[in-house]
Amino acid sequence: MKNSLKQTDSEIWEAIKGEEKRERDGLELIPSENYTYPEVLEALGSVLTNKYAEGYPGKRYYGGQEFTDKVETLAIERAKELFGADHANVQALSGSPMNQAVYLAICQPGDTIMGMDLSHGGHLTHGAPVSHMGKLFNFVRYKTNPDAGGAIDFGEVRKLALKHRPKIILCGYTSYPRTYDYAQFRKIADEVGAIAMADVSHIGGLIAGKAMRNPFDDGFDVVTTTTHKTLRGPRGALILSRGKVSNPMKQVEFTKENLPTILDKSVFPGLQGGPHMNTIAGIAVALKKASTDDFRAYAKQVLVNAKAMAQVFADKGVDMVTGGTDNHMIVVNTINTYSMDGKEAETLLDKVGITVNRQVVPDDPNPPFRPSGIRLGTPAMTARGLGADDVRLVAGWIDDVLRAGTGADIEGVRGQVLELSRSYEAGLKSRG
Ligand SMILES: *Cc1c(COP(=O)(O)O)cnc(C)c1O
Repeated sequence: MKNSLKQTDSEIWEAIKGEEKRERDGLELIPSENYTYPEVLEALGSVLTNKYAEGYPGKRYYGGQEFTDKVETLAIERAKELFGADHANVQALSGSPMNQAVYLAICQPGDTIMGMDLSHGGHLTHGAPVSHMGKLFNFVRYKTNPDAGGAIDFGEVRKLALKHRPKIILCGYTSYPRTYDYAQFRKIADEVGAIAMADVSHIGGLIAGKAMRNPFDDGFDVVTTTTHKTLRGPRGALILSRGKVSNPMKQVEFTKENLPTILDKSVFPGLQGGPHMNTIAGIAVALKKASTDDFRAYAKQVLVNAKAMAQVFADKGVDMVTGGTDNHMIVVNTINTYSMDGKEAETLLDKVGITVNRQVVPDDPNPPFRPSGIRLGTPAMTARGLGADDVRLVAGWIDDVLRAGTGADIEGVRGQVLELSRSYEAGLKSRG
């Protein structure tokens, strides 16, 4: 039983050690990534992975559920409490199956769903033509308006909704540096009798930490979120719903009261088999952490740090999508600013130990593999303990390196990155 991984499989062990070092030495700016807590890793590596627990607490298809029921019930209760939901499903294996489960619960193949266009910040699972869901359902995509500073044009959203009468109006983003007016989506959904759904995968932790607005406060029906981004949990997802709101649900055949059951059945047995109980334990641990004052301070600091970075970029004349940020991320148009596509920028920053990802910008003329920009964010750096002064330095280095291009002082900047990063090693440990 006690054979160590190092002895049994040194190749995998070495790869894991390499990743540990990479995560420690570099600065992680990919806005969808984070450092989870040691306690979550402990739960993930537990014997709960051995157990089949098809079904839900108290209603399983296998015996021996004394402890799995305890774990899943705690995860559900904590999720409901933290997000103010009436119901929570914690079994979706990740963000993509989470959204699939909701669509398949509410819609029939061919039904219409409205979501945000991919190049304007929506997620692949919001109906991108390359996704299976994009083929199965009729997705109508709304965009942002460059004439309104890159904000969502609600006049257009309403017009599209009245024309196409979607069953779900979906908001949520993967690359949009602003907040939403959820109430406007809710109003439009009411007008056409649609479900109002928010996929807050990127900002779930910021909502849990009370640093950003909760869509349930504007009467949303369904809220989905991944658990591994700003929530700092394991890779997983939450499907949250509210049972009793007053939308007449003209178009949809079920009532609000049975929405939770329909969502649960859609996840299992509709879409998945046995839940990953070790992950669900990790989610429960992360949710407990997310209800603390420490976490609320973290969520606030994520936003403070993003604003600090955006200010440095603004002062240096960097072209940012929407001109700045209200959340944890910044999208930089590197073609306009540095005459360099997102792939080149990503590669150059990799060399100095700063990890960002290439990103399409609204109506990007360039292909996704070589898009016009990069996306960066503060959740992971903030988890390590970096404050506003630190991230201002980092923003300065990013601008220096990209502006200098091939003439950049790679060694010099890499040394500074390493020094800053290592000075927060203790922070990484104590904060998880
Ligand atoms: C990350 C993300 C997802 C998908 O999550 P995966 O776990 O990568 O499948 C879905 N929606 C949004 C808005 C996201 O940001």
